[in-house]
Amino acid sequence: MDTAVIIVAAGRGSRMGGPVPKQWQMLAGRPVLAHTAAAFAGMPLVLVIHPDDRARAEALGLDARLVDGGATRDASVLAGLQALEGTGVSRVLIHDGARPLVSRALIQRLIGALHYHEGAAPALAVTDALWRGVGGLVTGTQDREGLYRAQTPQAFRLAPILAAHRAHPGGAADDVEVARAAGLDVAIVEGEETNLKLTFPGDFARAEAILKGREMDVRMGNGYDVHAFCEGDHVWLCGVRVPHGKGLLGHSDADVGMHALTDAIYGALAEGDIGRHFPPSDPQWKGAASHIFLAHAIGLARSRGYDLGNCDVTLVCERPKIGPHAIEMQAELSRIMGVEVGRVSVKATTSERLGFTGREEGIAALATALLVRS
Ligand code: MG
Repeated sequence: MDTAVIIVAAGRGSRMGGPVPKQWQMLAGRPVLAHTAAAFAGMPLVLVIHPDDRARAEALGLDARLVDGGATRDASVLAGLQALEGTGVSRVLIHDGARPLVSRALIQRLIGALHYHEGAAPALAVTDALWRGVGGLVTGTQDREGLYRAQTPQAFRLAPILAAHRAHPGGAADDVEVARAAGLDVAIVEGEETNLKLTFPGDFARAEAILKGREMDVRMGNGYDVHAFCEGDHVWLCGVRVPHGKGLLGHSDADVGMHALTDAIYGALAEGDIGRHFPPSDPQWKGAASHIFLAHAIGLARSRGYDLGNCDVTLVCERPKIGPHAIEMQAELSRIMGVEVGRVSVKATTSERLGFTGREEGIAALATALLVRS
């Protein structure tokens, strides 16, 4: 992974009050910084701290490089950037330690924007009317057109932002200001209302409510599909080619099990079914391999912050016999979705020779998927 994260956590947080700086206060049972770091799990992490906080930082047990910050935010960021020099990292996200609720989806949007820009940062357009005031009285209004509320993480290619920080005289509000002073282009990426910066004591209650809501967000969906037998010598089931005296008829590869599972994931997201995302009327999907559909569905789930809790697929047919292939099917589905094999179940049943599956006219499949937002 060539994108690293610098979490800036060296400030003393004078507006919050309390016995310890805000980034070390407890939020839902853990220090704020533990939540912030967890949002970037899997990425190389530099944690810039006040030298007095080193013991606290070590107690977090993070796989992170600890760097002492400077007297100002600029100096702290520069120290973090210098720690990444020569490590092979080419992009960096610079984030405030006091924004613990940043989502994976926002992180992905920022990294994506770096393909086209030297910098990218999240912001929300100002929607409230703006006033000027003195002494509790309104003295004028301010046009809000083109005004944004800036957030972090702010994302940059490493070499230009490091050079920009070295050249900057200091006193910048954020890293976008430093980047722009050096002539870098910075794209505005849609921010998130929930990506709040803990500033005042009431912000902790709001952050805890948001975290609680996230913990509770579990979604399930089901899928059902049928394909008829036709001439052929094999069928595709759950991504595995199974030799058989017949084939399965369909617009794509007719992988009935994978279709049911894909529909279950779309269902959990309230996103319709395969036909909505890959219309059968569109010739580009004729004969398509069904892993494209499944990968799209799980990607859509992840883009919304969900991951697969588990899934269960049942194939209904007299023949071919599924048992000898079930483990390979399980492995193939887990590979396509990027989840551990223990979260994926594939099993089969007959219908006691009753109905269309019993008469071996086709195969039916049912699937259930559980999505969890963490
Ligand atoms: Mg189908």
